[in-house]
Amino acid sequence: MANKRATVTCPDCDLDEEFEKLAAARECIEDHRTETGHEAVWELDRLSEGVERAGDEAGVCGREGCGDKESVLFQDEL
Ligand SMILES: [Zn+2]
Repeated sequence: MANKRATVTCPDCDLDEEFEKLAAARECIEDHRTETGHEAVWELDRLSEGVERAGDEAGVCGREGCGDKESVLFQDEL
């Protein structure tokens, strides 16, 4: 059951990485944003919508539609 749990992809380049831990996936997204300015997104594989929603509420969602909610992260870049 150690399969991938999240796939990180980037609409602006060929980034396509799989992670077993969401923290690692999120880190990849943030690193990618820092390095390239791209907004990579993750696709959750097996996690419930509840986890996804929790991440959304916590402001850690990497999905495209959550750009506005990531304002705190954007401030960190300044
Ligand atoms: Zn990219």
